[in-house]
Amino acid sequence: MSHRSGSLSRREFVTQVALASGGLVLGERLLANEAQKPTAAEPDKALIAISLDLEMARNFPTWNDTHWDYEKGNLNAEMKRYAVEAARRVKARGGVVHFFLVCRALEQENVDWLKEILQAGHSVGNHTYDHVYLLAAKPEEIQYRFSRAPWLIEGQRPAEVIRENVRLASAALKTRLGISPAGFRAPGGFADGLTNRPDVQKILLDLGFPWVSTKYPAHPNSEPGVEPTAQIFDGIVKAQTAAQPFVYPSGLIEIPMSPISDIGAFRNGKWKLEHFLKATRMGVEWAIANRAVFDFLAHPACLYAMDPEFRTIDLICELVGKAGDRAALVNLETIAQRAK
Ligand SMILES: [Zn+2]
Repeated sequence: MSHRSGSLSRREFVTQVALASGGLVLGERLLANEAQKPTAAEPDKALIAISLDLEMARNFPTWNDTHWDYEKGNLNAEMKRYAVEAARRVKARGGVVHFFLVCRALEQENVDWLKEILQAGHSVGNHTYDHVYLLAAKPEEIQYRFSRAPWLIEGQRPAEVIRENVRLASAALKTRLGISPAGFRAPGGFADGLTNRPDVQKILLDLGFPWVSTKYPAHPNSEPGVEPTAQIFDGIVKAQTAAQPFVYPSGLIEIPMSPISDIGAFRNGKWKLEHFLKATRMGVEWAIANRAVFDFLAHPACLYAMDPEFRTIDLICELVGKAGDRAALVNLETIAQRAK
């Protein structure tokens, strides 16, 4: 992101850029995934994904909230309700939602809402266990939880902590939901993805992920609270070419996130909903016109506060519906098939 970080420290910035990711699903869900594969075989279609990261987010629902930095997986009722309703709406329009879960949420008493989402054919991927920073060089950069409670990771190198945190998330998905993760999304997006980090690519390949979503390309944004100009909207559309899937030399597939995210718009830019709708519309329309990929990224924890009427998600469904044969609403697994 050309995301201005303002006066934030790098680690705060990384968290602010926070985003969220996808694998194989068992039983009847596998059938749901299979049913989508014919889409991937049609290279003349734009592939539009709605990906929602399931985690709590600083500054939402109220600006002074920072507590969630330490407990990103302690999902509240409003966030869960928003996720379930978003999934219902998208399915009613013939699509699917690709969720990425901060898997500490699987310590919560009731996970029926996630089972319901899976049974309806949506995907749930690995977003690490605690929302850890994959590129951390020092222990204190990994996650706020471990800064406050360093004994939890004492004596371990950052790379070990990160590998274990991703592994734990997959183990929790298997144990609590009976699924393998539908891919992986990196907490925080990286402007170059994992291009310069073959070591991290190897960790993710070793943990069984054929594809990941870690790249969030640089794009212009307005000063906080200032209405975005036409140039900013155009710059965000231009960034879509840098948000197309590709394969790293290691063989790992990258499915970038398409700017602008809800966090980029509502936290970093302090945008109004109308502006987020406009940027999303322009990005999706560009993808449809170019038969390209658009991977919409948002967080129910942010949207339930900023877009309580689901207008952004409804807009994407409507644009894809109007495009007819030229576009399809798919999960990231389908996009990965085409990228291969
Ligand atoms: Zn995230």
